[in-house]
Amino acid sequence: MANDAELAALRSALEEQPTDLDRAWQYWRGLGNWQGRDIRSGADVVRAFRAAAVAGPGGAAAFAAAYSELHARSGEGPRPCFVDRELQSALSRSLAGLADQDRQRVEWVLGCVTSGRSVARVHQAVLVGSAVLGSWLGMQAVHEAGHVLGARLTGGRVERVVLHPLTISRTDLAENPRPLAVVWAGPVVGVAAPLLLWAVAAAGQVPGAFLLRFFAGFCLLTNGLYIGVGSLDRVGDAGDMLRHGSEPWQLWLFGAAAAPAGLWLWNRQGPHFGLGPVKGRVSGRAAYAALGACLALLGLGLAVGGE
Ligand SMILES: [Zn+2]
Repeated sequence: MANDAELAALRSALEEQPTDLDRAWQYWRGLGNWQGRDIRSGADVVRAFRAAAVAGPGGAAAFAAAYSELHARSGEGPRPCFVDRELQSALSRSLAGLADQDRQRVEWVLGCVTSGRSVARVHQAVLVGSAVLGSWLGMQAVHEAGHVLGARLTGGRVERVVLHPLTISRTDLAENPRPLAVVWAGPVVGVAAPLLLWAVAAAGQVPGAFLLRFFAGFCLLTNGLYIGVGSLDRVGDAGDMLRHGSEPWQLWLFGAAAAPAGLWLWNRQGPHFGLGPVKGRVSGRAAYAALGACLALLGLGLAVGGE
């Protein structure tokens, strides 16, 4: 049984020669029997064995042995906050000089601290990739749905909708008695529908509503730029709007309202996507929900197709 004074003596003896494994084990055993109690934690494994683990394979084996003892007694396993990068690379290097149980324990420590991080990075990549690609595909689908709706409501007849994922989307009309309404319906529905979807999800506190916020921001930004900037060289919808009687300032107003609103929606959303202090940690559910939506939109694009 060790008291505070004995423990302090063991600790300062270790601090004199931090790579001495006998001293490390004595300090570790002392902590395990402090006034008859075991007060050890992951921080103590690091305090007792870090220097030895960095020094060579013997120390790495002792570090891993102490951690597995702690894990067997208390359930506390190795965590990335205690096993930093330098220690991880020292443990990796030591593997070549270790065999059997020592090697297995070191591999176990490394597995505990690196798998969590790499799984987090996979989730983050899935989330960001799906959100961006899904927003691009979804933005075009909603925009074209706006043109189709506009045509239906004004007695027009849609000849074809082009929505193939590898092309820029387009809606062609066979009959178009109200072309100005139909052309405006694309960008207007294209921003209003995603905004409404996000507002409903946010009001209902649906988990993952931040994805719909990102999507709404994406649609506002892209439609706003498409119309606002497009007005300058009269391309696409902007060209049709001007030809059918819209004034340029109307297009600029749309762009000037929509694009900054889109950027505003993206404000402070980084942590949802694993940026900043969360260091890559994202919701796995949100990541796979985004992937599912993205694949569904790819399927829709391929089904509608077109040239
Ligand atoms: Zn359009």
